[in-house]
Amino acid sequence: MLEITNVHKSFGKNEILKGVDLTIEKGDVVVILGPSGSGKTTLLRCINFLERADQGTANFGDLKVDLKGASKKEVLDVRKKTAFVFQNYNLFNNKTALENVAEGLIIGRKMPKEEAYKISREALDKVGLSDKYDFYPVQLSGGQQQRVGIARAVALNPDIILFDEPTSALDPELVGEVLETMKEIAREGTTMLVVTHEMGFAKDVAKRVIFMDGGVVVEEGTPHDIFVTPKEERTKRFLRRVL
Ligand code: ATP
Repeated sequence: MLEITNVHKSFGKNEILKGVDLTIEKGDVVVILGPSGSGKTTLLRCINFLERADQGTANFGDLKVDLKGASKKEVLDVRKKTAFVFQNYNLFNNKTALENVAEGLIIGRKMPKEEAYKISREALDKVGLSDKYDFYPVQLSGGQQQRVGIARAVALNPDIILFDEPTSALDPELVGEVLETMKEIAREGTTMLVVTHEMGFAKDVAKRVIFMDGGVVVEEGTPHDIFVTPKEERTKRFLRRVL
């Protein structure tokens, strides 16, 4: 369903991604773990062209693109297949929760307003915000704002949702509600690629876990493979630090 091959990316002389391969099947949740600076966020951003890779391909099954040389149209095609949930929510502060969710459907997908608002209300209901349609971001907690961010991604009905450390900006007491929301949409069969430091989520929800360090995939496997019987010394060292 999504196959990423040989992704390279440097910032100046700093080589951040050194040939990353990754496959994710339809309906799977894949979690990417790794130390700070290992290139996890950069990889996600390269997949939907928030960054341009120096090399690499993405194959969505019916759409294969060169991550370096893709045309404007190919970038738009990939953006239709993917949705991104940002660490800092990236909501429009002058729009209500409902307007934030509907924006991508009306502007991006050219959907009639009435239909867009209907889908957006359903998405907000799904993340437990049916009483907050008309609230502005400033009137919502961080956890609620991130759930709006997730509703916005869900409303687009993409092939895959890319989550970039969706709980790292939250106060600890708000992390749980966002992880619960993510679990809920995972249960519905949403294909999800998740960069996170939440080991509990990785253990409970991931079909596969990918451990990255120094711009490469060091090891990947089931949560049991990675957390209970890791093979690589670098993986073991990382887990000793975080668990
Ligand atoms: P964290 O868990 O801390 O978010 P990460 O594994 O997601 O880390 P990245 O955010 O991908 O790591 O960053 C990898 C490296 O690339 C870092 O050293 C970062 O400073 C650098 N980097 C990322 N974006 C840019 C940029 N736009 N310009 C220059 N350097 C960048």
